[in-house]
Amino acid sequence: MRKGIVSIVGRSNVGKSTLFNKLIQKKEAITEDTPGVTRDRLYREAEWQNNLFLLVDTGGYEKFKDDIISKNIKLQISLAIDSSDLVLFLVDGRVGILDEDREIADILRKSGKKVIVVVNKIDTHITPPSVYEFYELGFEDLFIISAEQSFGLGDLLDEIIKNIPKFTIEDDSNRLKISIVGKPNVGKSSLINKLLNEDRMIVTDISGTTRDAIDSIVTREEREYIFIDTAGLRRKRAINDMVERYSVLRTLSAIDRSDLCLLLIDAKEGASEQDTKIAGYCHEQGKAIIIIINKWDLIEKDTNTMKNYKEEVLKKLSFIPYAPIHFMSVLTGKRVEDIFDLIEMVNNNYNLRIKTGVVNEVISEAVSKNPPPSDKGRRLKIFYASQVSVAPPKFLIFVNEPELCHFSYIRYLENSIRQKFGFIGTPIKLELRRRG
Ligand code: GDP
Ligand code: GDP
Repeated sequence: MRKGIVSIVGRSNVGKSTLFNKLIQKKEAITEDTPGVTRDRLYREAEWQNNLFLLVDTGGYEKFKDDIISKNIKLQISLAIDSSDLVLFLVDGRVGILDEDREIADILRKSGKKVIVVVNKIDTHITPPSVYEFYELGFEDLFIISAEQSFGLGDLLDEIIKNIPKFTIEDDSNRLKISIVGKPNVGKSSLINKLLNEDRMIVTDISGTTRDAIDSIVTREEREYIFIDTAGLRRKRAINDMVERYSVLRTLSAIDRSDLCLLLIDAKEGASEQDTKIAGYCHEQGKAIIIIINKWDLIEKDTNTMKNYKEEVLKKLSFIPYAPIHFMSVLTGKRVEDIFDLIEMVNNNYNLRIKTGVVNEVISEAVSKNPPPSDKGRRLKIFYASQVSVAPPKFLIFVNEPELCHFSYIRYLENSIRQKFGFIGTPIKLELRRRG
């Protein structure tokens, strides 16, 4: 299963950005300070009734480039449609239908995608009869909202989740799912081909639509691995920036479906901005990650090359200091096979369970070494800690008042846990709870 993708399409000024911001609001507050993708205003995760989906703001593109607007909008729309499970076609209920709306409607109708017409800016509870003229656009479903006043958004969200793949947090399979991600040309397809050409039983099949990633099942030592390969997407790249961004979108969808991500980086190029975003998304979504520096054959080496290179990469990806960095060459085959051991090791950490007694020992040791700072005479007290889940490991820490705990102190506790148990390759989550 993957997360559904919903895009908001419409001419400028109908309220796309306003609606986008309303629909992602709940998530926004949570992800504000995290690195990477979420700072991008283009797509965000939204949640409704335990369902998660990705919402695309095509309005972001209007502001992104201002040359040849109408041509740009057309391209933007066709790209959004291409990637989406559902399109919200936003129109302005106070202005009525304009030619531009009709043009967009044509494109949408031809796409065959599921479209919901959303009539915005109806700020009163009384629906003016004029909104029904929007049925002329030729779509069955019409919703009336006021993005600004938040009217009608609950009904709209109900309808959205009815029309996209169901994606909740629970894991449906015990097979390890691994996505192979990274910029075009880093060697993703070469790697998957290499893995598939070895003497292993394999089945490949195409998941979802052909434009999505391709899943390959690799069996090795009685264990099945599903590799989710986004490499095929590269053929669509390089028309321009926007297309590239949409291929990032599909990468995110592949990451959502996986437990562990192999982030491939070209040794000659080093970590890029896009790698930062991908890694940031993995981190936020609580996925295990292994950084792979491929094409190591192209680098001239001396004794310190690897160590220096590692430091350089971790400087750029400083928010995932826990990620192992593996050097290999698909071309020569050197250290390719080792990635299975690395995957097993990281997956063990991802699913590692620490006994409550031991967790508490580590936490109280950390606290006595470095007591929490007090704030206006009040001091944080930590009573008890316990690991509540795995994949990724999550710890609850019961305290007197969660508000007294600084982010930096949480970081300190996290580091203390890591120092003791390693947890290489996996994010860990710490959540404070008021002792009830
Ligand atoms: P976009 O260009 O489609 O992204 O549109 P924006 O979200 O930037 O909105 C365009 C204008 O419409 C802004 O001035 C918004 O404040 C306004 N607007 C958006 N939604 C509503 C609404 O529900 N009611 C009213 N009255 N104005 C709205
Ligand atoms: P993708 O776009 O990430 O799927 O990348 P490809 O697998 O298509 O590889 C891009 C290019 O890099 C191809 O010409 C590969 O032959 C080459 N390549 C892949 N792995 C290596 C490697 O380890 N060393 C060298 N020198 N070239 C490689």
